[in-house]
Amino acid sequence: MSVHKLLLLPGDGIGPEIMAEVEKLLGVLDRAAVARFETERGLVGGAAYDAHGQAISEADMALAHSADAVLLAAVGGPKWAGAPYDARPEAGLLRLRKELGLFANLRPAVCYPALAEASSLKPDLVDGLDLMIVRELTGGVYFGEPKEIIDLGNGQKRGVDTQVYDTYEIERIGRVAFELARQRSNKVTSSEKSNVMKSGLLWREVMTALHAREYADVRLEHMLADALGMQLVRRPKQFDVIVTDNLFGDMLSDVASMLTGSLGMLPSASLGANDPHTGKRKALYEPVHGSAPDIAGQGLANPIAMIGSLAMALRYSFGLAAAADAIDKAISGVLAAGLRTADIKGSAESFVPTSQMGDAIARELEKTLV
Ligand code: NAD
Repeated sequence: MSVHKLLLLPGDGIGPEIMAEVEKLLGVLDRAAVARFETERGLVGGAAYDAHGQAISEADMALAHSADAVLLAAVGGPKWAGAPYDARPEAGLLRLRKELGLFANLRPAVCYPALAEASSLKPDLVDGLDLMIVRELTGGVYFGEPKEIIDLGNGQKRGVDTQVYDTYEIERIGRVAFELARQRSNKVTSSEKSNVMKSGLLWREVMTALHAREYADVRLEHMLADALGMQLVRRPKQFDVIVTDNLFGDMLSDVASMLTGSLGMLPSASLGANDPHTGKRKALYEPVHGSAPDIAGQGLANPIAMIGSLAMALRYSFGLAAAADAIDKAISGVLAAGLRTADIKGSAESFVPTSQMGDAIARELEKTLV
């Protein structure tokens, strides 16, 4: 049985509640002899600030570096509004992303049939939706220099951000998208604004060349980012893998996330480069949502985004695609049976607390695996 080193960072707010549900599933995977997980626990965000005066300690950073994957729940909350800027809860997350070199952000938007009614779009447009947005996470306009506000001296100021991409950055995110497409429906939509931006022109040129050179078996289409935004709400099921830059990816992935109903349902992965020696890549898996301080400690949190993040870790870090499928099937089964947490209750009469949803998914998984 393979052994995987997993660092669990529950963080703040509802973080510890939803991480507890993931630990139940790790127990099931262990009992079913799918894999064994050597888990370490660490602190991040406000919890780390309270304990160490830092948003993540050096010791926990070292654990993150040596883990095969990091599973993080969420950070932040009003309690730490006065924390120094460098020690604010989000700084822990940013440090992890930066030091682990996590340049590819994967956000699936999957609409479970049982929840199609919860989408803001008509159910038939989203029922069975399964797309993946691959966002470049460490380059582009959020990081390009110069980045400044200049006083022009005439009562005017000028704000400057710089959109910049080098060939290698486009190629490595392109590879992630093409490789993913090969495991899915074999189609990549690459998106930029090559009609008005030089960086967009280069993006299109590099993607086209990479495709011809290494991935000619995958279907590639190009779509301007504004058109893609429109198509996402018009006919989202036309997409399989969408690859785009940091800024457009930020916006488009938020739009896509709402197609599926609730924030409590959305997992994500952030991946680094493949280590040429071990073949492994650094990776962090986390729900898209935050620490939800408004519902923390009340059993109201939906653990599915967190559990879905574990499924992504199995799929993308540990090569355990069948086990990941089994978790997705367990989630689907529990939802189809009518079980709901408060956030996805819709017009249903009742809902179950976080731990009961976790128990039900664990039982369903156990039925498939054991
Ligand atoms: P949020 O995502 O925490 O919550 C937004 C709304 O969605 C709230 O009403 C919340 O109750 C609900 N919600 C979120 N997750 C849910 C779940 N699993 N189940 C049921 N309902 C859920 O965003 P926010 O309120 O803007 O931010 C709260 C804190 O989280 C802030 O400190 C923010 O900085 C932080 N934050 C952290 C991350 C992260 O850790 N990656 C991401 C976003 C926000």
